[in-house]
Amino acid sequence: MKLQFLGTGAGLPAKFRNTQSFVFNFMQELKECWMFDCGEATQHQILRTNIKPTKITKIFISHLHADHILGLIGFLSSRNFLLDSKESGVTIYGPVGIRQFVKQNLLFTHCSLNFDVKYVEFSSEQCIIDNKTVVVSTYPLNHNIECFGYKIIFKNQKGSLDAEKLKKLGIMPGPFYKNIKEQDSFVYNETTYNSSEFLSEDKPKKEIAIIPDTRYFPQLNEFVKNSDIIISECTYLDEKDAHHARKNYHLSILDIENFITESTVKRLFLTHISARYDVDTEKSVVEKIDKTIKVSIAHDLDEYNL
Ligand SMILES: [Zn+2]
Ligand SMILES: [Zn+2]
Repeated sequence: MKLQFLGTGAGLPAKFRNTQSFVFNFMQELKECWMFDCGEATQHQILRTNIKPTKITKIFISHLHADHILGLIGFLSSRNFLLDSKESGVTIYGPVGIRQFVKQNLLFTHCSLNFDVKYVEFSSEQCIIDNKTVVVSTYPLNHNIECFGYKIIFKNQKGSLDAEKLKKLGIMPGPFYKNIKEQDSFVYNETTYNSSEFLSEDKPKKEIAIIPDTRYFPQLNEFVKNSDIIISECTYLDEKDAHHARKNYHLSILDIENFITESTVKRLFLTHISARYDVDTEKSVVEKIDKTIKVSIAHDLDEYNL
């Protein structure tokens, strides 16, 4: 999986930080890309990447503040003009109100889309996706309007079959391969084999926590406890500014330090960064936290393999 940040700023677009959006490239795992939030000019940022808008088939909106949704209509209407977009619809997940926001805007701009848009709205903690590979659930945060975090859990997956090794035994590709993968052992020519001899290592469960705009509340520790990867807002990077965080319903670096201490997290990304901070502040944050886990302060267009 790959993660690319499109906008990493807080509130207003700044010279080097656009408003919020990032994309997970799950082409390997799920054959699709997922976008999280879509601030103004997100489509312009996409033009500077290798992301194909038609591959984005799920959009997850955290809340209805302008810096998280103003790019949505532009993104959808431009996606309309892309040649192969007809078959690939989009599902938009978000708090109650997102459906009306999108529909009304499309109506007022006389934009009729040639692909399907499905809406999944919610107003509480709930599971919104559950298939054999992945589970996604929502998590209510503590912002000045209704705002949701997301948890993505990739389930433990069996390794892939070594077809060459099986062919050498005389077992050609076919429905029997499925049995080999699903059962612990199999019989072929009156000999019993352990399936594990023909499988690569299992892919262990992977848990990703996404924390958009919120102020700190103690249950956040529980939410991130088993995470492997956390992507969190951290509007106030300098601990001297931590007092602004509570008042403005955002997180400071002290809040982040608090909740990661009780977490299994190995990889931390901080985004939604106030434009007031320079590289020196960023460096000192990374040096302080990086002793135990790998941390990155996200910048627009940064791309990571995970
Ligand atoms: Zn915001
Ligand atoms: Zn907000």
